[in-house]
Amino acid sequence: MIILKSPEEVQKMGESNAIVAEVLSGLREKVRPGITTAELNEYAEVTTQKRGARPAFKGYGGFPFALCTSLNSEVVHGFPSDRPLEEGDIISLDYGVYYNGYYGDSAITVAVGRISASAARLMGVTEEALCKGIEKACEGNRLGDISFAVQSCVEKAGFSVVRDYVGHGIGKDLHEDPPVPNFGVSGRGVKLRAGMVIAIEPMVNEGSYVVRVKPDGWTVVTGDGSLSAHFEHTIAVTEDGPVILSSRV
Ligand code: MG
Ligand code: MG
Repeated sequence: MIILKSPEEVQKMGESNAIVAEVLSGLREKVRPGITTAELNEYAEVTTQKRGARPAFKGYGGFPFALCTSLNSEVVHGFPSDRPLEEGDIISLDYGVYYNGYYGDSAITVAVGRISASAARLMGVTEEALCKGIEKACEGNRLGDISFAVQSCVEKAGFSVVRDYVGHGIGKDLHEDPPVPNFGVSGRGVKLRAGMVIAIEPMVNEGSYVVRVKPDGWTVVTGDGSLSAHFEHTIAVTEDGPVILSSRV
């Protein structure tokens, strides 16, 4: 069941997502060769607590950390560790908080120092695909319009969208209806209405879209070892068009 949010609720979700955005902006500044993802996790957790919020992922389904850190061929749900980041890595940072009754959720992929041209292109296309999807999050459109826009942007560039993990509605729960796939047919799916709040989150692989889960039970990696990037925003569908609640300054 899709739960529509009142304008007041959308405003509260803006506050949750502002904390997520602040943390991700801070993390982006911190990423450099030598820093560990465990240090990034610690920063996210401490900053969130200072804002009176709670990290959303820690304990969610048993996930052990505040921050998901997915390195290079890791797609999503990677564990922070003591491995220092190295020049040329790309690191996906997925973060969520619970604040004042509502969740916020957003993700970025960040370059560690100088990266290859192909890695930079993968990141650029993934972020562009997210933007294309957001543009379609308008009242009266169908969910499939978002999915199709994301998928066509990615496939035109020669990359692939992950099928096994998708975006989602969000509100008083971290994951609500509807699922928001990054692949689909325009004109299909539920009609978008003002008050719907969704997380759009393309996960894009340089090679095949096939993924597998590592023995830790969480870390999703590309099946062929190719690089993967991930960008996510929480979006409110409003009478005035899509509003990015997790936008970073
Ligand atoms: Mg997320
Ligand atoms: Mg999400």
